[in-house]
Amino acid sequence: MRIKVLGCSGAEFPGHNPPGFLLDGVILFDAGSLTNVLDKHGQSAIKDIFITHAHLDHIRDISFLADNIIVEKRKQRVNIISIPSVIKTIRKHLLNDSLWPDFTMIPDYENAVLKYVELAINKPIGINGYRITPYKVTHSVPAVGYLVEGSSGKSLFYTGDTGPITATWGKIGDKRINCLIIETSFPNRMRELAITTGHLTPQLLKEELLKIRHMPENIYITHPKPQHLSTIKSELEKLKVRNLRLLIDGETIKV
Ligand SMILES: [Zn+2]
Ligand SMILES: [Zn+2]
Repeated sequence: MRIKVLGCSGAEFPGHNPPGFLLDGVILFDAGSLTNVLDKHGQSAIKDIFITHAHLDHIRDISFLADNIIVEKRKQRVNIISIPSVIKTIRKHLLNDSLWPDFTMIPDYENAVLKYVELAINKPIGINGYRITPYKVTHSVPAVGYLVEGSSGKSLFYTGDTGPITATWGKIGDKRINCLIIETSFPNRMRELAITTGHLTPQLLKEELLKIRHMPENIYITHPKPQHLSTIKSELEKLKVRNLRLLIDGETIKV
């Protein structure tokens, strides 16, 4: 598994892009960064986009990708994959023919640029040799994280935005996670805000890690607020957790 970090930030500033993680160049997890980072060649390779939740910083570039496909008359067709409540929000509030065209009807329904694929929580889907399962996480809107299991036996779990999630770690149970991409949005002093908005602080992250049966091999942190980055970084270092670090925009990690 090769994961290119198109963006891993909890807000947008130059050099800090919203979340987008590209697996093997073809499967994207969250579309906060896509068309702002990938050239035409990179964009045209994408076939499936898994969305964790329908907040704008995780979905916005679906719009611009669809527009580019039509303008360039590409044959590319893209599946937008998530749980029904997330699809419903994208359909109703983003690709609603008002804020942006409904690309599931363009050029027509049969040949549409985008197609919605609905998943049930805890039920895997097979794509490109991977088994990908959505697990419920805790956020201010319906949200899931994705467990990606490869045929090589390696696995990745991407939480998306989440607060504490005791039941989910229980469901993952004995499964080993080689690579955990987990959010930490706020510094420790903002614990209350983190909990009410469905996010983590370094201390809350540590409490989550203690709930996981087998400690993941590598732990990568996504979604920090750039305004608090240096505090979050030093608080993460103080946790003294092995193989844990902040992700960097543009890097590629191998699992
Ligand atoms: Zn969110
Ligand atoms: Zn977010």
